[in-house]
Amino acid sequence: MRILVFLEHAGSEIQKNNLGVLAKAAALGAEVSGVVLGHGVAGLAEQAGRFGAATVYVADDAALAAPLPQPRVDVLAQLQADQGFDAILFAGSVLASDVAAGLAARLDAGLNWGLVDLAVDGGRLVGTQPSLGDSVYVTVGWQGAPAIGLVRSGSFEPKETGGSAQSVPLAVALEEFSSRVTLVEQLREASEGPSIEDADIIVAGGRGLGQAENFALLEELARELGGAVAATRAVVDAGWYPYATQVGQTGKSVAPKLYIAAGISGAIQHKVGMQSSQVIVTINKDGNAPIFEFSDFGVIGDLTTIVPKLTELVKARKAG
Ligand SMILES: Cc1cc2nc3c(=O)[nH]c(=O)nc-3n(C[C@H](O)[C@H](O)[C@H](O)COP(=O)(O)OP(=O)(O)OC[C@H]3O[C@@H](n4cnc5c(N)ncnc54)[C@H](O)[C@@H]3O)c2cc1C
Repeated sequence: MRILVFLEHAGSEIQKNNLGVLAKAAALGAEVSGVVLGHGVAGLAEQAGRFGAATVYVADDAALAAPLPQPRVDVLAQLQADQGFDAILFAGSVLASDVAAGLAARLDAGLNWGLVDLAVDGGRLVGTQPSLGDSVYVTVGWQGAPAIGLVRSGSFEPKETGGSAQSVPLAVALEEFSSRVTLVEQLREASEGPSIEDADIIVAGGRGLGQAENFALLEELARELGGAVAATRAVVDAGWYPYATQVGQTGKSVAPKLYIAAGISGAIQHKVGMQSSQVIVTINKDGNAPIFEFSDFGVIGDLTTIVPKLTELVKARKAG
């Protein structure tokens, strides 16, 4: 089986979730190729090689500098016409979702999204897809080729193989209609520390924080732990914290090693975005809050007292 993995990058790094998909594709015993699209991206092929890609196709062109989907669909459609991959996999992100959907439409191919696992069954790729609010897992397949799959973020851990990839440059020829959209302005939110997609530790806050200012308590704990701060929809809707940090059904799915949930009740729509975390620690003043049902450790009490104490403890451990 030949699998192509779309490799999205931020600056000079391929994003962690994409490297996780590469590792999974390699673990399936497939012949794994990656594709990098952008401007000034040739150096990324080496990184992809270290994480399991045997071949990396590189489309390095000023026309691909802006993170717009249609030019990427053009390049991928041409690459598929030339190479005939059995499957094309994407790690879930806003751009990847747009590109995957556009590519499926262009190739008249099937797209399964939100996949949390992949396997080969009888020589064919199958995926595992949570359904009905993540209450059941269904096995999904594809009719025809290529099988296009969008993997839920945080599903697979990257694995460094120490390999090296053959880098193959791609010519970039865009459809006329693909150049009609231009990026007028791109703003980056100033932030320190890892993003919630990349963090091994997440400190998440909900309405129990009482006010936006109390997010400072979580930020301090996250800083000491080297983690990132996330939020529930309730507090994002209230304008207490940015939308980019929302975890859940209408936010992001995360699967860190440690998820500390402070003042979060554990509504199903939040749970579906964080239940794959390895260890869940809850701080809630209501011992009957539903989140305790799927937490590994819990503290019943007021977060405004407990979180600062936890931060002090972490500082003391680090100092000692
Ligand atoms: C279609 C749809 C999509 C949705 N998508 C999402 C989504 O993507 N993500 C998401 O998070 N939600 C989502 N929601 C909303 C979800 O249903 C809940 O309303 C939301 O998750 C609740 O957020 P919360 O836990 O912060 O607030 P609450 O449910 O109000 O819980 C606050 C918790 O804080 C505790 N608390 C209060 N004070 C303290 C204190 N001082 N110390 C410690 N604990 C305290 C309380 O006991 C309570 O358990 C969605 C809803 C719908 C209908």
